Amino acid sequence: MAVTQSKETAFQFLSENSMSTIDQYAVFGHPISHSKSPRIHTLFAQQTHQELSYCAQDVPADSFSVAVTDFFRQGGKGLNCTVPLKELAWQHADILSERAQFSKAVNTLTLQKNGTVLGDNTDGIGLVTDLTINHMIPLLDSRVLILGAGGASRGIIGPLMEKSPTHIVIANRTVEKAITLSHEFSQLGKITGCSYDEIKNSEFDLILNATSASLSDDLPPLAKNLLATNGTCYDLAYGSQPTAFVKWGLAHGAKKSLDGLGMLIEQAAEAFFIWRGVRPETAAIVALLNAERAN
Ligand code: NDP
Repeated sequence: MAVTQSKETAFQFLSENSMSTIDQYAVFGHPISHSKSPRIHTLFAQQTHQELSYCAQDVPADSFSVAVTDFFRQGGKGLNCTVPLKELAWQHADILSERAQFSKAVNTLTLQKNGTVLGDNTDGIGLVTDLTINHMIPLLDSRVLILGAGGASRGIIGPLMEKSPTHIVIANRTVEKAITLSHEFSQLGKITGCSYDEIKNSEFDLILNATSASLSDDLPPLAKNLLATNGTCYDLAYGSQPTAFVKWGLAHGAKKSLDGLGMLIEQAAEAFFIWRGVRPETAAIVALLNAERAN
């Protein structure tokens, strides 16, 4: 079995691999050097005995369209797209899955047999799987607060609503974006958009941090009584150390305060399934990557 993993520029990738017979996959993003996706997909491939190559490529937004077209023209089979490319990927796809259509953000592109490119969004299902299967956190009848109204929030609202929470409140620094988002998804159930100030006297069973504040060790302005007794905090961001929001959860009585490494692995597993038709066992990979960052 040949499984390769590398980080290289788009140009190097295309010139060195264009003659390869191994199925080619990649993640595009900017920046991308921190990405764990090549490692995760390589582990999936080894586990499921699939022969493929998966690399990370630094692709700025202004090169995205050309890079994607070249990638598929040269035989690439599937792409993941991360910050800041998910909306561009949504625009680039020839056809969209229902969940991608709704979220207006795409993290998985797949070359289909007829030559068209299918766009999908596996972020939401990745989060819901991590919450409900890996951590046994019930969503039914729970009061959910989403912090942030960017691309990640767009991807998770639909799959969360499928689990029938009582309601979802979206709070955002730029309040207009939260309100717009709540209107876009209002047909799915009770969803409200507001400012941080407006929720200072509310209480939630699950608080999801979908802001990028943790990436700069920052926190949104959170009132101290927001989390219900036995509530859960979940930061979509992750790192080698607990994020600022994970620490906030622990300091405010969270029963569980988790970061987004599990979500990352689960969204990757869903993409792998779309591409290869085989579902990897994620528990062992979650345990391995958690153990690695503990060392
Ligand atoms: P976007 O850039 O699309 O949105 C960022 C959001 O964060 C906006 O709502 C912005 O508010 C808000 N924000 C940024 N800084 C602050 C701050 N200091 N205080 C309060 N709010 C702030 O990013 P994404 O939605 O794509 O990503 C959000 C997070 O989710 C990132 O940390 C990303 O790494 C993570 N993520 C993790 C995944 C996983 O698999 N674990 C998958 C996808 C995303 P405003 O609108 O006012 O600017």
